[in-house]
Amino acid sequence: MPDTTPPAAPGEIAVAVQGVHKQFGELVAVKDLDIDIRAGEFFSMLGPSGSGKTTVLRMIAGFEEPSAGRILLHGADVTRAAPFDREVNTVFQDYALFPHLSIAENVAYGLKVRGVARGARAGLVEEALAQVRLEHVAGRLPSQLSGGQRQRIALARALILRPKVLLLDEPLGALDKQLREEMQVELKQIQREVGITFIFVTHDQEEALTLSDRVAVFNDGRIEQVGSPREVYEFPETEFVARFLGVTN
Ligand code: ADP
Repeated sequence: MPDTTPPAAPGEIAVAVQGVHKQFGELVAVKDLDIDIRAGEFFSMLGPSGSGKTTVLRMIAGFEEPSAGRILLHGADVTRAAPFDREVNTVFQDYALFPHLSIAENVAYGLKVRGVARGARAGLVEEALAQVRLEHVAGRLPSQLSGGQRQRIALARALILRPKVLLLDEPLGALDKQLREEMQVELKQIQREVGITFIFVTHDQEEALTLSDRVAVFNDGRIEQVGSPREVYEFPETEFVARFLGVTN
């Protein structure tokens, strides 16, 4: 069933990553990492390819287990909980919509597998489609939508489960520049309206700076700096952050 608890109180920590280490064989992908992400925050993990962002996201989602350390979701230790048992949902870059199902069926899918009755699903689908402003496409197939619309449907499909935290793995990476900029505005608006904590992975500096309340700049499995877009851009604490953000002075 979708969670009906009210949104978290301001200032509450939605996700705490505590001393997390992740190794794949010899390779250390994430090194003794600590992050506190506040409830309702739009938090971005920014950094070059291979810096460990996706691995952190996957550990929060429960697709990977940390080699050491803990992950708390709203105070509960979920380090070893199955993905299904976490009030977290993920939106991937490739959308992963079912091509043979209508948009309404795609959006309802998560409810169906969780045993929500058909009657109860319809209203929730309508609400989720309204959240992404696509009520009028319910009967279409994914192939009949534009790339930007498909991305919004992927978002609706995740939001319908009322996760406490939404994880977004380069969700705009497959879109062209103009659509990407439009979707950035959309995404920010939707996040404000639904009030859910968004954790966003990107290698695009401008995107992270535009969208986020706070940005964590990753380098080689560690965070170099966490702060508001203005803080990291105007007051980079390390040479790496300054270079990566393209700060020239
Ligand atoms: P990013 O998201 O910043 O591009 P990743 O978290 O995907 O970085 O990867 C961090 C490092 O961990 C990279 O060196 C990558 O090759 C490695 N890695 C990620 N997943 C696996 C895996 N399942 N098996 C082995 N190495 C992996």
